[in-house]
Amino acid sequence: MWTSRLFWKLFIVYGGINFALAAMFPLLLTNWQESLLIDQVQRRLDGMAIVLRSEVEDDLKLGSYDRLNSLAKRLAREADVRVTLIAADGEVIADSDEDVQKMQNHSNRAELIEARAVGQGASIRRSPTLGIRMLYAAVPVKSDQQLVAFVRLAVNLETVDRQVQQRQRVLWLCAFGVALLAAPITYLIVRSIARPLTALTASARAIRGGDYKRSIPLQSRGELGELATAFDQMRVDLASRVAQLEDNNTQMSTVLGGMVEGVLAVDANRRVLLANRACRSLLGISTSDVAGRGLLEVVRNGDIDAAVSQAMTSDSPHTREISVIGPPRRVVSVFATRFAAGPTSGAIVVLHDITELRRLENLRREFVANVSHELKTPLASIKAYAETLRMGAINDQENNLGFVDRISEQAEYLHQLILDLLQLARVEAGQEAFQFTDVKVEAVVDRCVSQVKQLAEQKGITLNVVAPAELCKIWADSDGVFTILSNLVGNAVKYTPSGGEVEVRWWREDDEMILEVKDTGIGIAPEDQERIFERFYRVHKARSRELGGTGLGLSIVKHLSQSFGGSVNLTSEVNKGSVFRVALPLAVA
Ligand code: ADP
Repeated sequence: MWTSRLFWKLFIVYGGINFALAAMFPLLLTNWQESLLIDQVQRRLDGMAIVLRSEVEDDLKLGSYDRLNSLAKRLAREADVRVTLIAADGEVIADSDEDVQKMQNHSNRAELIEARAVGQGASIRRSPTLGIRMLYAAVPVKSDQQLVAFVRLAVNLETVDRQVQQRQRVLWLCAFGVALLAAPITYLIVRSIARPLTALTASARAIRGGDYKRSIPLQSRGELGELATAFDQMRVDLASRVAQLEDNNTQMSTVLGGMVEGVLAVDANRRVLLANRACRSLLGISTSDVAGRGLLEVVRNGDIDAAVSQAMTSDSPHTREISVIGPPRRVVSVFATRFAAGPTSGAIVVLHDITELRRLENLRREFVANVSHELKTPLASIKAYAETLRMGAINDQENNLGFVDRISEQAEYLHQLILDLLQLARVEAGQEAFQFTDVKVEAVVDRCVSQVKQLAEQKGITLNVVAPAELCKIWADSDGVFTILSNLVGNAVKYTPSGGEVEVRWWREDDEMILEVKDTGIGIAPEDQERIFERFYRVHKARSRELGGTGLGLSIVKHLSQSFGGSVNLTSEVNKGSVFRVALPLAVA
């Protein structure tokens, strides 16, 4: 309160008015009192002058001035007044206080001029003879309607002045006292006005600074109280609206921020209004502080700029596919549409990263091309052998069976290819295609080893199985695990020359089961190791085909392992051998 300028302004103004009002009383009353006292004195002098006039009339006629002088002196002594008799021409005839010889002509004295004119005159002035403030009252003395002289009485006004001064002092003290008494009242009144206004100002200032929590202490009634109540209600409403707006904003930011699609909004002048996180990451915009900046400056992409131009000049949305130079390089679909909402107009651009979609499409295309190629080759052979037989080779006793065997081999290859493709399709179909159970690793390994045993023996390859002491179970699809293992063991036997060794081991490691297939075969070069799990990727194409390989085995192994929540990795050295390790989750005990 004490720091409020408004309070001090009002307090000083009201205090000043109080003091001025209080001061008016001594000023007005003093004048009034003075004129009242002077009036009383004048009336006394007038009365005395009239009485004296009747007494001096005879002496004046006789011209006995000495008598008059002594009369004047006596009267002056008795009534404490100065008595002067002045001839009609202004010459002083007798005076109670002064020697008449020394006195000037009095014809120009105001009281005489007035008395001559209206029959009675009075004036107040400083006496030139005595040097003090005097009240003069004069009446004319006539004889036969002729003015012969004036009787003038004068009284010293010092007593009156002293009385007036004394009363004035008391009045000023009273005025001062009233002003002092009024000060606390003024303070209370001014405070009752200033306090709500100061609180209102403070609250308004706080609101301007974004603080809507500062409520106004409602202490006054009347209009100011109503104003404070209305203002406080306004503050509460404003706070709830701002909170709502902030909520909406947060919601919008959360929604926009959580969107996979990039959203970019620009105004009619191509200034960026917003760019969500996905948009910034898609277009490689490093800063989030983009609002208000030029579109091209922010996105640095002419295609997006062109899409916005198209959308702004057309009623229908504009779509195009653009490529964003990375890294990584991305294919982005752009959907731009014009908007006009309230005072703003501009365009909204929705960006969708379709790099993966395009990649998958390419993969699918490649896959279809590969499958067609893989199918075409054995079919062409079958067709060629069948044609040869039809053309007469059927009667060629030496070779005809050989041709039939080739047809049978190619048909077998086709069969294997189709089985692998179906297996791959099954894996890609996802979890629903599997029946998860506790799978005993040992049983699967036994089944698998017995399947390849004959081939290994034929090739003179030693097949070792190293089982752990404990019984190990994994949580997976039994047929799936068998497929993984038979592919790996089959490959190991296929790509290991005679006299080599293939070993199958498994053991627990933390909460996983590690299944290892190790061979002393031809090995895989480091540059091929990265691609070995791709579909139809073969290191030695001719050899693989010769051995009946489809190029899909390892791809199936990788997908199956991942489907069971595991992984596969490879370490290999050319001409030394390879080690494939599959990690699969353990069954819950
Ligand atoms: P394939 O049916 O041709 O064997 P895979 O997907 O099983 O197809 O294997 C892909 C390629 O990886 C094979 O063609 C072969 O060149 C190479 N490969 C797989 N296993 C081994 C291994 N144990 N030793 C050497 N090369 C291997």
